[in-house]
Amino acid sequence: MNLKGVLDLLYPISCAVCGAPSPAHLCAACRASIHVRAAETCCRRCGKVVMEAVSAGVAAPLCGPCRDQPPKFDLARSAAEFKGPVRELVHLFKYHKGTWLCDELADLLEGCFLAHCRGEAPDVVCPVPLNRAKARERGYNQAGLLAEALAARIGVPAVPGILVRCRNTPTQTHLGAAGRRANVAGAFLSPPHLRPWAYGRCVLLVDDVMTTGATLSECAGALKANGAERVVAITVARD
Ligand SMILES: [Zn+2]
Ligand SMILES: [Zn+2]
Repeated sequence: MNLKGVLDLLYPISCAVCGAPSPAHLCAACRASIHVRAAETCCRRCGKVVMEAVSAGVAAPLCGPCRDQPPKFDLARSAAEFKGPVRELVHLFKYHKGTWLCDELADLLEGCFLAHCRGEAPDVVCPVPLNRAKARERGYNQAGLLAEALAARIGVPAVPGILVRCRNTPTQTHLGAAGRRANVAGAFLSPPHLRPWAYGRCVLLVDDVMTTGATLSECAGALKANGAERVVAITVARD
């Protein structure tokens, strides 16, 4: 028995979601119950579900918001719906210092990237920045950890500094789409001294959860204002 075997025996791991003994922090049964929507049912720009089921030969249209007020990112994709085990994992990761779950979440991101964004060939990866007070209180930026883990897996440099928050924004959990857009307007900046990392580049922007996409769109706008050519957003979950 190798060292890992001995450690596993001494300190057995259990599934973070259901508590069952498991060789990983997410057991096979919980992993199998993760809700993933077929890409063919989702808006081709933002990934929002627009059709109930896949119908042969019919491409999913753009969703209403993408038609009426196109987001500043070029593409957004999420690994899973924000429910069941994924909701639980993200919650532990974000609010209960569950940074040990980073690998499980990065697995989901990597799978989503390979399935939906591979053709994008991003030049650089960056996370949605957390506001300073929250970062201090939490001790880490959950999106930053995910961005680093994903960047290492896909062999693309992570450069978190190319996007910063230039003002704090009140929590937007209870705001609708228009309220969220107003809330984050002008909240992000891509620093001019890091323009070589942005100019003409395809940036892969990482966050944990996408709701209306207002934050991702505003981040994409800031990166593009600093010369980024394309911004692809990827999140673990879509609410
Ligand atoms: Zn489980
Ligand atoms: Zn859309």
